[in-house]
Amino acid sequence: MSAASKVIRPEIQAMHAYAVSDATGLVKLDVMESPYRLPEALAVEIGQVVSKVAMNRYPVPTANELRALIREVMQVPKGCDVLLGNGSDECIQYITAAVAREGAVVMAPAPSFAMFAMHALFYRLRFVGVSLRDDFTLDTEAFLAAMAKEQPCVIWLAYPNNPTGNAFPAADVERIIRAAPGLVVVDEAYQPFAGATFMPRLAEFENLVVMRTVSKIGMAGLRLGYVCGRPEWIGSFDKTRSPFNINVLTEAVAIKLLRNKDVLDAQAANVLAERERVRIELARQPGLVVYPSAANFLLVRIAGPQGAGTRVFESVKAQGVLVKDFSGGHPQLENCLRLTIGTPEENRILVAALREAMK
Ligand code: PMP
Repeated sequence: MSAASKVIRPEIQAMHAYAVSDATGLVKLDVMESPYRLPEALAVEIGQVVSKVAMNRYPVPTANELRALIREVMQVPKGCDVLLGNGSDECIQYITAAVAREGAVVMAPAPSFAMFAMHALFYRLRFVGVSLRDDFTLDTEAFLAAMAKEQPCVIWLAYPNNPTGNAFPAADVERIIRAAPGLVVVDEAYQPFAGATFMPRLAEFENLVVMRTVSKIGMAGLRLGYVCGRPEWIGSFDKTRSPFNINVLTEAVAIKLLRNKDVLDAQAANVLAERERVRIELARQPGLVVYPSAANFLLVRIAGPQGAGTRVFESVKAQGVLVKDFSGGHPQLENCLRLTIGTPEENRILVAALREAMK
């Protein structure tokens, strides 16, 4: 037995690290980034902003200027506070840390975003995933029944959901919020492509917070996520935060970009239009089911025996396109691939590669 294996928790030894594939040389359509770089003039302005940043100083721990701008630009309701995270991944960690009582339960639909369960594991909470139906719609009655039985302290609802792409009906989300014994986090990572949001409704529900990220609208590399809600929630999460979690470069660049949000909005609008175009094209492909999406990606299922999805994934990759293969993970995702929407040219290459792979 090695020194490490005597000390590292068995459940950590048994788990796999969050997998991110090497995309060198490939058309990168695996992790829902925006495919667009910034216009040259704005990129140059950002260079000037960065050149003035005092990197010898720690960040202002409260990041007041950035938080004020987020409130304004993202229309955070009055009376609500904002917590910033190094990506919304880190917000998940902070929320989990704040509620991690002995024996507590964390709940989410399954399949959903992997980090909800991973942070529960890290903080020794019991994670309960409530299966979606086979078409990935929410079985609201089953979810409500599981809530009544398990009494979760936190419920994570990705709205729209990753990796399935669909947004659960707002009325069902509302029923869950009303019946929840604890906190409900509506994770709106894909909100820019969905339109629907619970942000304006924060005042209605005492047990609701809304989490967002700027990762999907062109700033994935900056690592910036945020949670909006009543001060009594946000103030508690804030106590679990590393004091300088938002670095000076992220803060300066995010401020500049959010002041130019029209550029990012126009890019997101292109992605949205492309999603519909690609969806219609792929719906014509025999042997492929395309699930409804309110996000910047499409989940598809390849018809055929076990292994059919991975075979198509490998062929598409050999043709130079990286997507995400979900086979071998959650059983309902067997033969499913998740396709991030790229530029029109990238999407053309993707569709052609899929067609070739399925010949
Ligand atoms: N929530 C959901 C539903 C996601 O899909 C993701 C990223 N894939 C995140 C949160 C985390 O995003 P980030 O850390 O980049 O803000």
